[in-house]
Amino acid sequence: MIDRDFLPPPTRRIRLADLEGENRALREQLAAFKRDAQHNQEILQSFHERELALLSADSLPTLLNTLTDGLRRSFRVDELSVVIVDAEYDIRQLLVHAGSRVESYPEVRFVEDIGELSPIYNRLTGPLLGPWVPYEHSGLFTRTDLRSVALLPMERRGMLTGSLNFGSRDPERFTRSHASDFLSRMANVGAVCLENAVNRERLVLSGLTDALTELYNRRYLTRRLEEELARAQRHAQPLSCLFIDVDHFKRINDTFGHAAGDEVLRELAARLRGHLRPSDVAVRFGGEEFALLLPQTALREAGRIAERIRGMVSSEPVRTRAGLIPVTVSIGVAQARPELGQRRDAIGNALLAAADAAMYQAKEQGRDCVVLDRGGVDGRSAEAFGPAPG
Ligand code: GH3
Ligand code: MG
Ligand code: MG
Repeated sequence: MIDRDFLPPPTRRIRLADLEGENRALREQLAAFKRDAQHNQEILQSFHERELALLSADSLPTLLNTLTDGLRRSFRVDELSVVIVDAEYDIRQLLVHAGSRVESYPEVRFVEDIGELSPIYNRLTGPLLGPWVPYEHSGLFTRTDLRSVALLPMERRGMLTGSLNFGSRDPERFTRSHASDFLSRMANVGAVCLENAVNRERLVLSGLTDALTELYNRRYLTRRLEEELARAQRHAQPLSCLFIDVDHFKRINDTFGHAAGDEVLRELAARLRGHLRPSDVAVRFGGEEFALLLPQTALREAGRIAERIRGMVSSEPVRTRAGLIPVTVSIGVAQARPELGQRRDAIGNALLAAADAAMYQAKEQGRDCVVLDRGGVDGRSAEAFGPAPG
């Protein structure tokens, strides 16, 4: 007789087979988890890299490039757009001051009001991933063949400051079931970086502008002079400089008061600004002295411009709270024709010195007149230009 206990119980055999199956299933699941973990690790890594790129953008133009070109390339989406709320136009102005152009960023849409591009913003409280809805999304993209989109709000202190928008022709690329935590986080890193970059540009600009007249200051002139001389060298073009000094300004202060003097300076700055071409640079050089850089302008033309400025100042007294104040200016004009290889700092200094010297000659000749430095930056001769003072 066979010992019954010796035989493996049939139920036990079945359990073993089950266990093996279960084991296999578990191993497969573990492998899947591992793959997921690796995949997530890769995603995390790439998000990390994108965030680092945003965080290391050291100027507004670089940040906008990273937000547009950089993200479009790394996400490989069919279209990307960045909406930025810029109600006061100051981000756009800062961009121009930073040496860039708004048109250089066609993927960035600056808006005064977040609701103006799409009704979706009225209910966008978190990331929105899903199918392309023309009525809601066409204001945010230029392509019309998109099938899925991700709209990621950029928020600062509970306020919607813009959004990062991805569009894909693949309907499965962005769906409601996608996890959006990383995307949402990245958009908010973008929002912080944008605010930082704007503040940094403001700070840079405040160090380069004059608070009273809102013109650029002397430091900015030094910087621009270098750039303009380099440009003049490259294109073999002249660069002219005007030195403008208010005549007997001390008397104006003494007669009408310092506040009226300030008003005169502000009004002169406004008249100068209104008289310039976009490429011209006007700065408040010091107290009651202004300097103008006129790119691609030779001495004769610069002299004509100086004469127009002189006339524009003397022809109309400045209206101040202390009354009408007649004002005149003396202007010195010089030009440089820098050649490739010449030292720009030396030419720059010589150009400013020549314009300053010509301005002093104008003072000597009785004020309210223009004197041209005819010798170029190295020249010493200067001669009277414009009407003789009364
Ligand atoms: P000149 O025709 O020879 O140039 O005579 P001036 O009186 O204009 O020249 P001066 O250099 O003797 O005087 C310049 C004055 O400008 C002295 C200074 O108090 C005044 N000033 C400088 N900065 C400011 C400012 O920001 N506001 C006011 N109101 N006055 C200023
Ligand atoms: Mg002076
Ligand atoms: Mg003066």
